[in-house]
Amino acid sequence: MEHVKLLIVGAGAAGLSAAVSAWDAGCRDIRIADRASAPGGVLPQCIHRGFGLSTFGEELSGPSYAERLLAALSSTGVHLSLDTEVLSVSHDKTALLSRRGCVSRVRFERLILASGCREKTIGSLPVFGTRPAGIFTAGQAQETINLRHQDLGREVLILGSGDLGMIMARRFSLEGKHVIAVLEQAAHYGGMARNYHRCMEMYQIPLRCRMTVRKIHGQGRISGVTAVHLDSGEQEYIACDTLVTALGLIPERALVQGLEASPWLSLAGNCCRVYDIVDSAASQAQRIGHEAGTSLL
Ligand SMILES: Cc1cc2nc3c(=O)[nH]c(=O)nc-3n(C[C@H](O)[C@H](O)[C@H](O)COP(=O)(O)OP(=O)(O)OC[C@H]3O[C@@H](n4cnc5c(N)ncnc54)[C@H](O)[C@@H]3O)c2cc1C
Repeated sequence: MEHVKLLIVGAGAAGLSAAVSAWDAGCRDIRIADRASAPGGVLPQCIHRGFGLSTFGEELSGPSYAERLLAALSSTGVHLSLDTEVLSVSHDKTALLSRRGCVSRVRFERLILASGCREKTIGSLPVFGTRPAGIFTAGQAQETINLRHQDLGREVLILGSGDLGMIMARRFSLEGKHVIAVLEQAAHYGGMARNYHRCMEMYQIPLRCRMTVRKIHGQGRISGVTAVHLDSGEQEYIACDTLVTALGLIPERALVQGLEASPWLSLAGNCCRVYDIVDSAASQAQRIGHEAGTSLL
């Protein structure tokens, strides 16, 4: 069985930052495993600027931020295994890895989970009706448009005004689509003021607060939704061919369920808690990496 001192699950901003810090602390046997074919986690699909202001003193795009982390990693001897999914982690400090159909077991001394977070889906809301094509989470839509260059629809309704919802509203607008509105159940937009200004106001995209979706209409493809005004209870039909949900993120920790108290385990980045700003995720991960690296000397 292969043995590694420090195994890191996830090569996003957190996993890469933790690895460089652990290396700088003196640990010389580090492996990062990521199921994706390219490193960076969500960063490569975030082609907008807004990353790295506090770390680098300039606003970078997601891919540029990832490049800086990868440049730092390249000056270390950290082993990066892409296309490698960690299927399970056991209390006896072994992990089951799958790479292109081959399964192997790795023994480790410490493990840093840097697996990011997952999006809440429409299934998390009490929404009636069918589930036709044309309903996407904001992250799925972002990846499909920015990395796969595929067209998703023309008449777009967005549910949720967190940063991701507002960023995707602007993205669809830039793609020449009609963004009907961003619906928000709260009385105020959910994301940062700078994103409201840059993504909504500057593109004249309407924000409709105290509203949510109650029913989905359409056979084959979505044709509209019944929205409800939460204060009056009044219902309104909104025609659309695309519904994008930006309902929030949940830290992804399924891999270590039941192992949370293990002294050899640390959580870094968005799987620990959801960070709005990549710099915060990266600096928390650096602390975790330093601590893990030092403990392994
Ligand atoms: C759409 C969007 C826009 C954002 N915009 C900004 C912005 O403008 N400015 C800013 O500062 N911050 C922004 N952020 C926040 C910032 O990007 C994140 O906080 C940060 O990148 C999270 O890094 P992470 O490494 O924790 O997670 P991720 O980037 O999600 O990385 C997790 C990695 O773990 C891998 N993984 C998960 N499970 C496994 C497994 N079992 N086996 C192997 N690999 C696994 C995944 O493939 C992934 O590569 C944005 C975030 C999003 C989602």
